[in-house]
Amino acid sequence: MPQIAPSLHRDPAPSADKRLSNTEIAHQLTTLAQLLASAGENPFKIKAYRRAATTVQSLPESVHELVQSDADLTAFAGIGKGIAGAIREIVQSGNLRMLDRLKANVSPELAALSEFPRLDPKRVQQIYRKLGISSVSALREKLDAGEIGRLLGPRLEHHVRQALITSHELLLHDVDDIAAAAEDFLRQRGGAKRVEAAGDFRRRVEVIRELNFVIQTDDFAPVVDELQRYGGHSELVRADAERATVRLPIGILLTVELATTARWGLALLLATGAEAHFGALEAAGHDLAKLARSRQRFPTEESVYAALGLPVIPPELREGLDEVARAEADDLPRLVALTDLRGDLHMHTTASDGAHSIEQMAAAAKERGYRYIGIADHSQSLKIAGGLSEEALWGQIRRIDKINEKLDGIRVLKSAEVDIRIDGTLDYPDELLRELDYTVCSIHSRFGLSREQQTERILRAMDNEHFTILGHATGRLLLRRPGYQIDLERIIAQAQARRCTFEINASPDRLDLSAAHARLAREAGLKIAINTDAHSTRELDFMRCGVDVARRAGLTKKDVLNCLTLPQVVKALT
Ligand SMILES: [Zn+2]
Ligand SMILES: [Zn+2]
Repeated sequence: MPQIAPSLHRDPAPSADKRLSNTEIAHQLTTLAQLLASAGENPFKIKAYRRAATTVQSLPESVHELVQSDADLTAFAGIGKGIAGAIREIVQSGNLRMLDRLKANVSPELAALSEFPRLDPKRVQQIYRKLGISSVSALREKLDAGEIGRLLGPRLEHHVRQALITSHELLLHDVDDIAAAAEDFLRQRGGAKRVEAAGDFRRRVEVIRELNFVIQTDDFAPVVDELQRYGGHSELVRADAERATVRLPIGILLTVELATTARWGLALLLATGAEAHFGALEAAGHDLAKLARSRQRFPTEESVYAALGLPVIPPELREGLDEVARAEADDLPRLVALTDLRGDLHMHTTASDGAHSIEQMAAAAKERGYRYIGIADHSQSLKIAGGLSEEALWGQIRRIDKINEKLDGIRVLKSAEVDIRIDGTLDYPDELLRELDYTVCSIHSRFGLSREQQTERILRAMDNEHFTILGHATGRLLLRRPGYQIDLERIIAQAQARRCTFEINASPDRLDLSAAHARLAREAGLKIAINTDAHSTRELDFMRCGVDVARRAGLTKKDVLNCLTLPQVVKALT
């Protein structure tokens, strides 16, 4: 069934058979945010509407039905009283007076942007002016001709590209909540007796296009029916007697596959591994197809791997790299777990662009069972992020000494996220760097340098004896920008020679080192840090995302710097 295109030009007065889908409601909220932005309204208000739109889009329940049954919408994250009122108005009257008013007050060119709520009106106006155009179709033409990039730079080009295409991918971290909600939905609305996540999500792949579940139920047809009502309406992509895929309002696919108790393990295994994993099994003479054809019972994954003569391979490793060979040699790594972490070596405080004080970060880390944290605020060049002047960092060093005198059970290490300048020098003088317990050195500027230049820049920085950890090695932002080009192998060799190392930056949109890069660093024998780069106490929970990457890279506790005890880590850092 085709999805009903959201339209603001028509009056979609809902009747009994016309229910607004969550997508349509979210569309009105994002359009409102967009028009508020072009009217120069309060950025917090704009952000609030965008956030509410995301919430509406992620909900399995039909918001239309929730309003009709008078449910309390403020129970959902990011929906306050005002926004709840707006949603009720949208559902009950089909439109929003505030939106109509705003639309009436902007130029037709800007009003036309409402079909692309992710386009930022200010930036579009700037492009329109500079290129002498006034429509989205002209904007698309200029984009395709490469003119936006050439004349206005890569950032604007990227923004337009992202906003014009509908994204069908989400960060793994954002999918965690969606997966939990989908699981509940399958049990409660779909009547499934057993539900287990599989696919890329179970392997903890950093960007997700499709969410897979294996389910057990006596009757599959009602599940398929209910799936089409997910979030008010979800488009059915394909379905047969044992498998169905819908596109969720939030953009990603949801695939559900039927399995029996007797074949549960086999179904789960087949729905989890990457294609290359099955290729590697086959190449090593393990015939999964034969098992599938047999009448044997495979209630668990253990039973399947056992029939192949192998130990269970952790889902995160099922990528067709070395896991089958290692399983055959009974040499599978015991992967690092969240509970193995004893500290976090990269976080920011109110001294630069963080939200909480050193004391608050220390208390929150202690609550998470850590024995040490490293404060790594930005350095002086990074003015946009409130980088600390030399004097301010001297002050912070003295403050940390005082704080440590008072703290019990946790120690604050002195660090800084030191900018690597264009010529490869570090952003503080040696006599100041010497006072720190260690440094996290990062690139925050001039991403456009050639691979050779960028690599040289990092190699020179590592020449400095105070260089400890390379922060977010490639600078990538998942779904937003690729990283800058580097020759990682040369940098790894230099890190070995200069006794430096890398971090897996656990920020969900960075995950940098990637799993593939972390694997290379591990193979070179480096101990890698898993750092949250937290800018608030809550972001300390990003550690889970970093651990996911580390596990995909095959890292054990021994490969991770901040799995060391406090005395060990202090020794390793000096
Ligand atoms: Zn940084
Ligand atoms: Zn940072």
